[in-house]
Amino acid sequence: MKILISNISVDETLFDFTGNKDEFDIPELADDISVHVSAYQSAESYTFSGKISTKLNLNCDRCLELFEMAINQDFNVLFTSEDNVDKDDHIMYLPPQDVEIDLKPYVRDTIMLNIPFKKVCSDTCKGLCVSCGLNLNHHACICTKEKIDPRWDSLKELKKTLESAEE
Ligand SMILES: [Zn+2]
Ligand SMILES: [Zn+2]
Repeated sequence: MKILISNISVDETLFDFTGNKDEFDIPELADDISVHVSAYQSAESYTFSGKISTKLNLNCDRCLELFEMAINQDFNVLFTSEDNVDKDDHIMYLPPQDVEIDLKPYVRDTIMLNIPFKKVCSDTCKGLCVSCGLNLNHHACICTKEKIDPRWDSLKELKKTLESAEE
């Protein structure tokens, strides 16, 4: 994902990359990474904007099953040799002697930031039964049917009390 700085001009230039997933050291990656990027130069700075696309294999926190999540992340990053600018996630320092810019570390970081903290296969995932461990997305287990809402217990008690008071 290297771009020779001499190939970047004041006019936008398009670059396409495909990164082998095995070279990114992200175990969740399920597919190679494609990066479409447009780049242009202004003074000592190089601006890149584009899209990073790939797929992740994640384990659902609720039902524990593997599911696939697509990443299609737009990005915008500036590489600059000027050292008087505040660096942040979107501004990177470019040593003046460098002849090329490697987007790979930035792409890797962007993918890492896209791995959700809470991994759920679907908003409607029913998870596992706490008593028998069955995946409730695939099976309806007996324990959920027999489980009686504890709130009814007090009502039953009340009914009993009322009934005995009537006698
Ligand atoms: Zn799930
Ligand atoms: Zn159950």
